Amino acid sequence: MAHHDQFPPQQQEPPGLTGAMDPTPDHGEASYQGSGRLSGRRALITGGDSGIGRAAAIAFAREGADVAIGYLAVEQEDAEETARWVREAGRTACLLPGDLTDESFARGLAQQAADALGGLDVLVNNAGYQMARGTSIDTLDSADVDRVIRTNLYALLWVTQGALRHLPRGGAIVNISSIQAYEPSGTLVDYASTKAAINNVTVNLAGELGARGIRVNAVAPGPVWTPLQPATQDAEHLTEFGANVPLGRAGQPAEVAPAIVFLASERDASYVSGTVLGVTGGRPVF
Ligand code: NAD
Ligand code: MG
Repeated sequence: MAHHDQFPPQQQEPPGLTGAMDPTPDHGEASYQGSGRLSGRRALITGGDSGIGRAAAIAFAREGADVAIGYLAVEQEDAEETARWVREAGRTACLLPGDLTDESFARGLAQQAADALGGLDVLVNNAGYQMARGTSIDTLDSADVDRVIRTNLYALLWVTQGALRHLPRGGAIVNISSIQAYEPSGTLVDYASTKAAINNVTVNLAGELGARGIRVNAVAPGPVWTPLQPATQDAEHLTEFGANVPLGRAGQPAEVAPAIVFLASERDASYVSGTVLGVTGGRPVF
């Protein structure tokens, strides 16, 4: 999508599926060209079935990495499509369905990935959940808030704890934050707060893990066309999705993946840790 086009009104139940989206997102299937940036690395990408996670999986595979993908069981068709692209790039894909709000599953996920891939070098904490609600804080419901915080913050900590039993010197963690950490929307107060927390955790872990030679960074996307949007925003809001950023349009998952590759790559980002890279279409991340 070269310039701002209105998205057709559409709605899905969370977590949403790629096949029901109009237009189909661009995950770099036809465009991403690798150059060995992640040669021989083994990566776990949570929420790697769709959206930004799928684009990262395709890019990682074309950069030479084997990829394990976490996702919800109801997203099986999306996960299989991502795995197909990873295998087409000549790399190993491993599918790990399960609910990250379940502490024991989340804590064990990195072990499953390491068992399947023979080790683990890169963790991308990409799974996330939001639900737009009214603009008043009165409309916050505890069960919703709990799901948002467990998915975006608790699970990130649990998966990371598991991964740190495997990540070697030269390993990397990339957390997916959001423009919402900087410019929070009234309709996403709980979600935005978890993204601010993820930035804070990123800096904190970079401090702790530097001595182990493990780099920790975050990518903060702006509005990106993924299943999360039709599954969690109202249909009307979507028609203007992305129109209010300086570049005047929503981004595609394919436009976020290169930032994740950069931060994951020991070749390109060996001295980059504790930072947040904005991919926002022009909105500020400071
Ligand atoms: P997406 O729906 O394609 O990906 C999110 C994934 O999270 C889902 O595919 C699902 O597999 C996973 N997930 C959610 N709840 C889970 C659970 N309980 N257990 C296991 N997996 C679970 O949407 P996306 O936009 O690509 O989202 C990826 C990340 O990008 C999220 O962290 C999101 O907050 C962030 N983000 C997205 C946007 C955007 O505009 N799309 C903007 C800023 C940040
Ligand atoms: Mg999905």
